[in-house]
Amino acid sequence: MKNLQKLFEHQLKDLYSAESQLLNALPKMANKATDSKLKAVFERHLEETKTQKARLEEICKELGVSPGGEKCNAMEGLIKEAEGFMSEAEDKEVMDVGLIAEAQRVEHYEISGYGTAVRFAKELGHKGIAEKLQQTLDEEYNADNKLGNLAEGRLNEKAMA
Ligand code: FE
Ligand code: FE
Ligand code: FE
Ligand code: ZN
Repeated sequence: MKNLQKLFEHQLKDLYSAESQLLNALPKMANKATDSKLKAVFERHLEETKTQKARLEEICKELGVSPGGEKCNAMEGLIKEAEGFMSEAEDKEVMDVGLIAEAQRVEHYEISGYGTAVRFAKELGHKGIAEKLQQTLDEEYNADNKLGNLAEGRLNEKAMA
C-alpha cells in the first residue's frame, strides 16, 4: 500500500465484499427470526444493504477503481458464526436473541469500517464521497440501535411479567 488513497481504495473494496456477503446472509436471518418486529428489522436492513452496495459501486466508479477483487475475511467469519448458530438453535426465543447477538456483531464491524472510511475520504478531500459513506454509517448505527432496542425490550417485558 503506497499511500492513503490506495489504502482507502482497498478498504472500499473490503466493504464492498462485506456488503455483498451480507446480502446473501440477511434473507436467511430474516427467515429464521420468529418475532415479527425482528423479521422486519432484517428485511428493512436487507433493502438498505442493497443501497449501500450500490453506493460503493458509485463511489468506486467516481474514483476509477473496480469494487471487486477483495474478500472480507472478517465478514465471512461473522456470517459463518451466524450460520452455525442458526443451525444449532432449537428454541424460538433462543433463536431470536441469538440472531440479535450475531447481527449486532456484524453491524459493529460495519460501523468501524465505515467510520474509518468516512475519515479517510475527508482527509483525502473527497467531500461528496465522505457524505455518501456517512449516509451508510448512519444506517448501520440505526440498524444496530433497533436490534439493541429489541433486545432491551425483551428484558423489560420479562421484568414486568
Ligand atoms: Fe452495510
Ligand atoms: Fe473486512
Ligand atoms: Fe467470534
Ligand atoms: Zn449493516
